Amino acid sequence: MSDGAATGAVSSGALISLRGISRHYAAGDALVRALDEVTLEIQAGEFVAIMGQSGSGKTTLMNILGCLDRPTAGNYSIHGEEITTLDRDGRARLRSRTFGFIYQRYNLLESATAQENVELPAIYAGLAKGERGAKAAALLDKLGLGERLGNRPSALSGGQQQRVAVARALVNDPAIVLADEPTGALDSKSGAEVMELLRQLNAEGRTVIVITHDEKVAGHARRQIHISDGKIIKDTGCDTQGAASGSKLPREEVGEGGPVDEMQEAVKMAVRALRVNKFRTILTLLGIIIGVASVVAMLAIGDGSKQKVLDQITAMGTNILMIRPGAPGVRPSSSISTLTSDDATAIAELPNVRAVVPERSGSYTVRYGQIDASVSVNGTNHQMSLVNDWDVVEGSGLTEMDVKRMAPVAVIGQTVKKNFFPNGENPIGKTLLVKNIPFEIIGVLEGKGASPMGSDRDNVVFVPLTTGTVRLFGRSYLSGITAQAVDMAKIEQTEKEITALLMERHKTEDFAVRNSASFIQMATDTQNTLKVLLGAVAAISLLVGGIGVMNIMLVSVTERTREIGVRMATGACTRDILLQFVTEAVVVCVTGGLVGVALGVGIALGANALGTRAILSLPPILMAFTCAVSTGLLFGYLPARKAAHMDPVTALASE
Ligand code: ADP
Ligand code: MG
Repeated sequence: MSDGAATGAVSSGALISLRGISRHYAAGDALVRALDEVTLEIQAGEFVAIMGQSGSGKTTLMNILGCLDRPTAGNYSIHGEEITTLDRDGRARLRSRTFGFIYQRYNLLESATAQENVELPAIYAGLAKGERGAKAAALLDKLGLGERLGNRPSALSGGQQQRVAVARALVNDPAIVLADEPTGALDSKSGAEVMELLRQLNAEGRTVIVITHDEKVAGHARRQIHISDGKIIKDTGCDTQGAASGSKLPREEVGEGGPVDEMQEAVKMAVRALRVNKFRTILTLLGIIIGVASVVAMLAIGDGSKQKVLDQITAMGTNILMIRPGAPGVRPSSSISTLTSDDATAIAELPNVRAVVPERSGSYTVRYGQIDASVSVNGTNHQMSLVNDWDVVEGSGLTEMDVKRMAPVAVIGQTVKKNFFPNGENPIGKTLLVKNIPFEIIGVLEGKGASPMGSDRDNVVFVPLTTGTVRLFGRSYLSGITAQAVDMAKIEQTEKEITALLMERHKTEDFAVRNSASFIQMATDTQNTLKVLLGAVAAISLLVGGIGVMNIMLVSVTERTREIGVRMATGACTRDILLQFVTEAVVVCVTGGLVGVALGVGIALGANALGTRAILSLPPILMAFTCAVSTGLLFGYLPARKAAHMDPVTALASE
């Protein structure tokens, strides 16, 4: 398959075959021909030096050989496989299993130890953890760095760093080693050592291509290719004597490593990268922590205040209907005389009504012995305790018989007991004078505390409505009727029925019916609004935290462009880089989320201890945590994508 190329003998069995490869750069209006129709074949097992002056196109050629860059025109095949058509990840995989790179400036990851640096290409090649660790250690040991496995690059000399780089280039056992001015930054002794290493690699059967502008360095190689202005101007020709027999050939593509291992490695690297910039990481974390903690604490406090209000309302009875005299909207007053006992009796006949309590109240001076006080005296019936959920704790309550017979008996509240019997005497059987009319105390009610309006509900005396009407109130109109529904769910229906019934009896709407369910609904709505508001404020702070994460990730990607280039050169594909940076963002957010949840729970517990009710429940905590993690994913994705789609050559060339 001879195509009459200008240089060397062309045979189809070549390891590397370039045909008419050009690489042009647009520099403003001018076109820079960094490579100009280069045709070149390299056999397996060769040791080639590419020489030329600075700017002649050596690095460009190397980048194309190493599949880091794509030619503008021409064909390139490795071991017969055309590779100019490969996509990004195809090239990454090819790099990973075929090439080992060595650079003038070593390009080691500063935050990783020597051993970890060497392991890097093996991670991307999918080698198991134990295996690659051992392999890296063995390689470093062989290169005389057995004592230096745990050292970071900054603790190594230039020569040592370059040997770490050589070990890294070898860890995937590549068929081809590419070295771009590997001795350029080294003193002559270290440089000679590195060249000797390369010679050994070639002797082991690897194809070695080394770029240099140093004649002495080039002297180690068995073939010299000179380039100038992007063209090959001299080629000493193929010479594979002594190494050709056992020459390594590129490996076939092998399976990827397990995803668990890959994740583990990504997390480890993320934690390390975050540690490098501790202060910055802490500030970013703080954003997430504050966001999550405020969501957790705010929602707990919101729930607490809602529950408190609900409890207060429920204490008033939830299946209760209140009928007041006076048209709806008119302020109830004792002078409005529209409701009667007969109305109450009629309401009691309705379905879904369990109990009806007519009530007439007035304020009277009550006297016992030498003591007198102003007390609210309420005429009521035997169902008062049941409907108002107000138990008798001493003696007994009013009976149906008491009501029927207009018995002069009274049940007193705790304040009345305290005021009239301050020395702890038993009030049962004693006689109170209300408007000078004697009432025998038959029972004492439990303490009820202050009403929502602040009045003392325990400063009260209950007497049978019948007795009260005749002896005290004089008139038979009621100050209200309280009805208790059987089925809470039908309370709206019952309210309608009561309204209809009273309309029929009164012919005009001179009464108002209210049910506490609608009141509860209103209070719940208000509290929910409050909760949503608190939640929104908290969510905004979480969002701000997320933007902080994104900001820091963008900076991180920019700062670590070179690292990204190194990772790509060592075989990382788009997904690996994406995973790497997304993992960093997620690690920040998961850590921030956990600390934030702990802080939020702490704040809620603290609030409880200080008397502000807060209810912690799992859903808001899970929600806040999930939000934090998705914030990480969401805001980490864009910078990670940016990193993953960088051009390896540009990334490597960055400062
Ligand atoms: P060498 O490695 O031999 O010093 P290079 O291969 O780096 O040379 O560069 C060859 C030519 O291509 C130089 O003239 C250089 O300015 C140009 N060149 C290299 N990379 C770029 C680029 N990204 N954009 C524009 N011109 C470039
Ligand atoms: Mg160069």
